[in-house]
Amino acid sequence: MAKSTAAASQIEKLRDDIRRHEYLYYVLDEPEISDVKFDRMMEELKRLESMHPELVTPDSPTQRVGGAPRKGFETYRHSPPMMSLDNTFSFEELEEFDRRVRELTGRDRIEYVTEHKFDGLSISLLYEGGVLVRGVTRGDGTTGEDVTGNVRTIHSIPLRVDAAELKKLRLPTDFEVRGEIIMPLRAFEDLNQRQEEQGGKRFANPRNAAAGAVRVLDPEITRARRLDFYAYFLLVGGRMAAHLHSEALESLRKLHFKVSPGRGICHSLEEVEKFIDTWEEKREKLPYEIDGIVIKVNDIALQQELGFTAKAPRWAVAYKYPARQETTVVKDVIFQVGRTGTLTPVAVLEPVEVGGVTVSRSTLHNMDEIERLGLRIGDTVIIERAGEVIPHVIKVVKEGKARHEIAVPERCPECHSKIHKDPEEVAYRCVNASCPAKRKESLLHFASRHAMNIDGLGEKIVDQLVDKGLVKDFADLYELKLDDVAALERMAKKSAQNLLDEIKASKNNSVARLIYALGIRFVGERTGQLLADHFGDLTKLAKATVEQLVEVPEVGPKVAQSIADFFSEPANQRLIRRLKDEGLKMTEKRRAPEDMRLSGKTFVFTGALPRRSRDEAGAEVVRHGGKVSESVSKLTDYVVVGADPGSKYDKARSLGVTILNEDAFDDLLEGKVTVPALERPGKMPGKSNSKGASKRTPQRSLF
Ligand code: AMP
Ligand code: ZN
Repeated sequence: MAKSTAAASQIEKLRDDIRRHEYLYYVLDEPEISDVKFDRMMEELKRLESMHPELVTPDSPTQRVGGAPRKGFETYRHSPPMMSLDNTFSFEELEEFDRRVRELTGRDRIEYVTEHKFDGLSISLLYEGGVLVRGVTRGDGTTGEDVTGNVRTIHSIPLRVDAAELKKLRLPTDFEVRGEIIMPLRAFEDLNQRQEEQGGKRFANPRNAAAGAVRVLDPEITRARRLDFYAYFLLVGGRMAAHLHSEALESLRKLHFKVSPGRGICHSLEEVEKFIDTWEEKREKLPYEIDGIVIKVNDIALQQELGFTAKAPRWAVAYKYPARQETTVVKDVIFQVGRTGTLTPVAVLEPVEVGGVTVSRSTLHNMDEIERLGLRIGDTVIIERAGEVIPHVIKVVKEGKARHEIAVPERCPECHSKIHKDPEEVAYRCVNASCPAKRKESLLHFASRHAMNIDGLGEKIVDQLVDKGLVKDFADLYELKLDDVAALERMAKKSAQNLLDEIKASKNNSVARLIYALGIRFVGERTGQLLADHFGDLTKLAKATVEQLVEVPEVGPKVAQSIADFFSEPANQRLIRRLKDEGLKMTEKRRAPEDMRLSGKTFVFTGALPRRSRDEAGAEVVRHGGKVSESVSKLTDYVVVGADPGSKYDKARSLGVTILNEDAFDDLLEGKVTVPALERPGKMPGKSNSKGASKRTPQRSLF
């Protein structure tokens, strides 16, 4: 018992520390410790909790994982309804609003609070006993969807608030916070870039992307979208929980919610207008999109006096900024090569001022976008700018007299290699592994842990090697001289020698690693292994036709085409020859299964295994004659579960498939006869509360 109490207080202390650092990082943006250190604390907490599953509570920082995807959302009724806001577009309309407020209240001066109008989706967060219990979208205002699992993944939403702080603020532990979930511009850009790389659709704006991310059934997707939350109302028992709105915002801030960083208390309409003007310029620099300013009567008693219309409060209004759009002429379209080799068309514009900034370039994203716009060189277009994001073309407004078709270049503008297009994708790309546009990226991948595993060849070194012209491709690494490396910044002779030793040692890596390291599109670690097993020789692989490639297990036409494209590129053929000359291992005895112990058995992996990567685990299954599948079905024999498992875990449980942890998996590989099916309650966040039923599945004998 004493031991458990000690553990409990250790866990609670660690949670408090983590909560503090989450707040510093996600809310204040002022981290005090490194990411690595933070991750370590999190790992430690996970470890302690897995040893004491009975101590896991839903408000623990480890419980931001949202759990398994769901079938649909339940609806939830708001009380009071979540209102919309009336919009104004000019100072005249604003003066009209102010006049009405003064008339209705009989005052000649009104104090207003001004806040950013966040462009996202509004959400209601319900706390009970100081702990977040429910998150509901606005929906139609009266009823919304319960998206609790998803909002829990948003780091700036406290899973619980400090009880002492609530007391100090004289607030009860049951309350409601209303605010806006937004997607920061950085996250939005990254998301669209990923979408494009994977051949998906771009999101039109951060609002759509945020709304989509909150209303997906799989919380894992919400988490990956890196959303943020800003609070703007605090309610207790359905009523505003303060005498002044500014006080409520201050309380929210003290409870560790984010509130509008630009907020003001204005004593006159002139001050409101000044606030609006100031932020119209400054909004450029904000990390998120705002589409205006919200103006609210500060005094809650006056708010109540004013009441509501059918749709919106009479005590608040939104001032909308004009869209930052302008018309101009497209003089030319050029193509830029991105870090991954994708070609991006860019419009060269007649320079034009858009919201105070001169714009002379605008991204066109891809060829489909050009087609959608019906754009030709010489056309007059409308461009729009949001934040510091590159402006984009909205539409063609006038066709030019001499219109030129926009053609994708046949050769890469950087290295003159042939440009390839995957039939299923919109992107065109340069597949030359040594193309200057993606040199650094390729080298980092080549050196990475699961590829050639060259320790010490990180970003700083790669940057210098490339910038100094010492390394242009992978083969150059093997020609580096000690003096050259030792001359780099922050490189002592000793570490230079270590690096060269590492590079040299990598020559003996398996062919599978080398294939993966080349950075062929769609060829991950596992495919690298399968290709190595099948061909046993890199030079044979390089000569394989698409027909031969699709014979490799798990290689479909898309992957086969990508491999063939890669090796058809003369620059890549030269590279392979040079790597061979440098003495890298190119052939390997083909690996026949060691034994057929797992013959006829199908495995599925989910979650992170402690000791090996999923690909390594898969390779072992194959080595013993078994098969690996991506999805769980009745035909699956075993599901091997690691930390933070996904939906496959639930599926396995519902189908009654035998579940193993890594230890049990090892036993199976070693041919031990019986293996206990495993359920570790503490490892499955949020699942241990189903009345112990899930804690232990009957032990099953395996053979
Ligand atoms: P609209 O969607 O144009 O009708 O504008 C009303 C919406 O603006 C509200 O429902 C909120 O979701 C959102 N909003 C954004 N920022 C704020 C804020 N600071 N205060 C109140 N509402 C806001
Ligand atoms: Zn190129």
